[in-house]
Parts: sequence; C-alpha cells; structure tokens
Amino acid sequence: MDAMTNTGDAASLADLMAARHAFKMHAQDGLCFEDVPLHAIADAHGTPTWVYGAGSMAAQYSALMAAFRAANVSAHVHYAVKANDHLAVLDIFRQLGAGADVVSGGELARARHAGIAAADIVFSGVGKSATEIGTALAEGVGQINVESAEELVMISGIASAMGTVAPVALRMNPDVDAGTHEKITTGVAGNKFGLAQADIPGLYARARLLPGVRPVGIALHIGSQILSTAPYRAAYAKATAMVIALRAAGESVAVLDLGGGLGIGYGDEPGLSLSAFAQTINHATSGLGVKLLVEPGRYLVGAAGLLLASVILQKHDQGKRFVVLDAAMNDLIRPALYEAWHGIMPLSPVDYRAGLSPADVVGPVCESADRFAADRLLPALVPGARVAILDAGAYGAVMSSHYNARPRGAAIMISGGRFHLITPRQDIAALWADEQRLPG
Ligand SMILES: *Cc1c(COP(=O)(O)O)cnc(C)c1O
Repeated sequence: MDAMTNTGDAASLADLMAARHAFKMHAQDGLCFEDVPLHAIADAHGTPTWVYGAGSMAAQYSALMAAFRAANVSAHVHYAVKANDHLAVLDIFRQLGAGADVVSGGELARARHAGIAAADIVFSGVGKSATEIGTALAEGVGQINVESAEELVMISGIASAMGTVAPVALRMNPDVDAGTHEKITTGVAGNKFGLAQADIPGLYARARLLPGVRPVGIALHIGSQILSTAPYRAAYAKATAMVIALRAAGESVAVLDLGGGLGIGYGDEPGLSLSAFAQTINHATSGLGVKLLVEPGRYLVGAAGLLLASVILQKHDQGKRFVVLDAAMNDLIRPALYEAWHGIMPLSPVDYRAGLSPADVVGPVCESADRFAADRLLPALVPGARVAILDAGAYGAVMSSHYNARPRGAAIMISGGRFHLITPRQDIAALWADEQRLPG
C-alpha cells in the first residue's frame, strides 16, 4: 500500500482536529474554520459548497518562504495553477509575490486574467498545442518547459515565424521514484513526462543553434504528494550534475526549475518537512549560481480548503452502514481516482462527542467508486447533519464534473474572519444552456 491509500487510517476525529490549527470545535457553533462557523456558511449558501481559507493559504506560503530563508535558499515560487485555479486563489498568491506554473492555454489565460505578469509565468506540459504556444509567446511568458525534441522544434518554428525568441528550459526525467501513488508519479523512466537525461545535452546544444528558442536551464517535477526528501535529494543531485555537465560542454545554464510535489498530511501525520526540503535544495544547489524556481500546488492550497456536505440519509444494508451525502465523486474525485484518504468531520459538537461506529461515506452518483470513505469511524449522522470533507483545497473543484447532471457547487473564501461567495451555486438550467438541439 502506498502513502496515498494508507494515509490517515488511524487518525481519530480528535487527532484530525489536533493536527489542524485553523479548525476549532465550538461548543455552540460547532466546527469552525478560520474562526467562521461552517454551519453559518451552509445556512447561507447550502451544500455541497467548497470553503477556502485565505489565511491558511497565506500561512502556507509564508512557512515555505521562512523555511527557504532559514536554509539560505533563494527560490521563486511559481504556484501550480492546476491545483486550484479559482481567480480568488490566484489573487492571493499574486499579492504574496508568487508567479504561476500553468499547463494549458486556459490556465495561462486565467493566470493573466488574475493579473499575474506574463514574465512570472512558466508554461509546462507534455502536449502544448501550436495555438497555446503561439498565445504564450504573444503574451511573453517567462519560460516554456520543453518535454520533447518534437516540441522544441515546434516552438522554434512558431517563435521564428512570430519574430520572437522563446526562453526554454528542458524538462529532465531524472528516473527517480517519488514513492507516491502511481497515478501521480511523473519522474520515472517509462512515463510520458520529460526527457531522458542522456538526451538532454544534445538537445540543449540543438536548442542553442535553433532559431526562435534560447535554452535557459533545466526543469524537473517528479510527482505529487511526496512526503520524504529522499526522492528530491536523488532527483536534485541528478539535476545539479546535469547543470555542471552542460556548463562543462560550454552551455550557459541560468535557471533550475525544481518543480512541485510537496506532500501534505491528509490524516494526522505531518506533511513533507519544509526545513528538510529547503535544506535538500541548499545542499544540491548552493554555489551552483542558478536562479531557482519551485512549483508547489497542493502544499499551498490543499489543507486550506474543504468540501461542505449534508447527509441525505443513513442506509443500513446487511450489517453495513452507509452515510449518503449530497456531495459526490463529481465534486471531489480524488478518493475514486487515487484511493485518496480525506478526513471527514461532523459539524455538530453533539455528533462529535457521540458514539462512533464504522460507516461507508458515499455520494448519490451511480458508480460504486462514488465513495469518500470506507469503514470510517463516525457518529450517527441523521438526515440534514453536515460534514466537512477536509483537505479538499487542491485537486478538488478543479477536477469536478457535471456527471449525473449535477450542477457545480458554490465556493466560499474566508478572509479576515468573514466569508465571501466566490462562485455561486450553478443553476440546473445552466447545465444545458450551451446545448443546441437538431432542427425539427
Ligand atoms: C502538477 C504540477 C506541479 C504541482 O504539483 P503539486 O503536487 O500540486 O505540488 C508542479 N509542476 C508541474 C510541472 C506540474 O505538472
């Protein structure tokens, strides 16, 4: 079993609370997040509703920067937009001084719309279309991370035709197992991401000679939800060796993009140690004389969001208890997709103290995979009781769909002890508003 499926199994409700300083159980108001009673949000806006905490996002960013400072690391943070691309979230990181890492033309447009300077945007991804590359060049993005020789040639052609020069970094596949779930590992040989180390020197030299591109450095990103520094240590050692080898061959290497993947604790276990991560970077890169970039997504927003849901009913079948929520896999697909573990906290202080028994927590969607938790110890949850599915700020709303004709939930941002509606609940009619029927 890997870190994803295993995480949290032994964590009690009290353990989950103790590990999350932004949450408090108030005797009257019930579960509060960043000092706002979640009941008040559900009363005002219904469920299912995403709730994000601006304070928690800023605190994560500050903790990362403090760890970098303490380890003498000077690195630019490029927030990985795909983790949570809401404009209100992008605003927070722009105001904190972060750039963005984007993986599509849509994310590029979002980041620009949120006011992030093009020069502070890195464009990553294994299959950028000619249109996306053209748009990125027209905008003047700071860096394009190239994942194949074919793509390098494509960028060269497009940029030359536009009379511009694209700053490119070559994404190296360091062939390091990140020790994470197979569906979120990206840096081992045989997966689709990046270039084999052996191919990098030749391609770097070719990039130097091609028109329309200027090689500026090396990029890597080995996977997501990484909880130990060992894979980073191994990968960064190879990246540093590559920088040194390229320079020995006469190339100029100004940038080392270290990627993201910093893992968080979904149960009561700690996430990746920031100080150990920062020290790993320092060991690998001190004296190298490169501009360092990091691209965290999940770490910055994962624990800063939750999915608020109501119990539709409790069903007992052949000795098993099912808690059926009004949220489903179309809202939060991580448990179905990655067997991911999410803490589930009742909102009511009464529920919190009541006797616990195992339950499967499921959604109403017509798929067996529509299950948030199996055999989870929870109190009796009567119809109308509310729960918070924790740590849903990353890869939550961004991965949601309309399956079973379910409209998108509302989203709330808590800021300064008040809550703000940042996405209204979608009208049912909006589901088909763009659809055209055949005539007759
Ligand atoms: C997804 C992704 C990230 C962010 O990953 P997290 O695990 O959310 O930190 C960073 N860089 C690239 C290239 C990515 O594809």
